[in-house]
Amino acid sequence: MKLSWKGIWNYKCPRCGEGDLFKKPFKWTDPIDMHKACQNCKLDFEPEPGFYFGALIISYGISSWMLLLPALLLVLYYDWSVMAAMGFTLAFAALTYFKIMRLSRSLYLHFSMRYDKSLENSENSGSKYDKTIF
Ligand SMILES: [Zn+2]
Repeated sequence: MKLSWKGIWNYKCPRCGEGDLFKKPFKWTDPIDMHKACQNCKLDFEPEPGFYFGALIISYGISSWMLLLPALLLVLYYDWSVMAAMGFTLAFAALTYFKIMRLSRSLYLHFSMRYDKSLENSENSGSKYDKTIF
C-alpha cells in the first residue's frame, strides 16, 4: 500500500483514489466542507470526532517553512527590506491559505489510511482501519 501524492494533491479518497474529499464547487464561506464518507468506497472521512485537529500541526509545519524560507532569501540574499519581505510573505500566505488548509487535511487522512483495493467493497465498518498506519 503506497502513499498516493497525486491523490493527496487532488484531494482524493486515500483508500480507493476515486472519491472526492471535499464537496464541489468550492465555497468561500466553508472552504473545508468535506463529504462524510467516500462516495465510491464508503470510507469514513471522519473516523473520530476532532480527527482533523491533527491536520493543524501539518498546516503549521508546511506554511511556516513555506513562508520563512522565501522571506529569509529575500532579505539575506536579495537585500529586500524586512517590511517588503513581510509584505511579500503576507501576500503569498493569502494566496496559498485555502490550498494549504485543504492539503493538510488531505495529507493527514492519507497518512492515516492507505490505498487498499481489497477493502474497496467491504461493508464491515471495522475493516476501514485494517492495514492502516495507526
Ligand atoms: Zn474511496
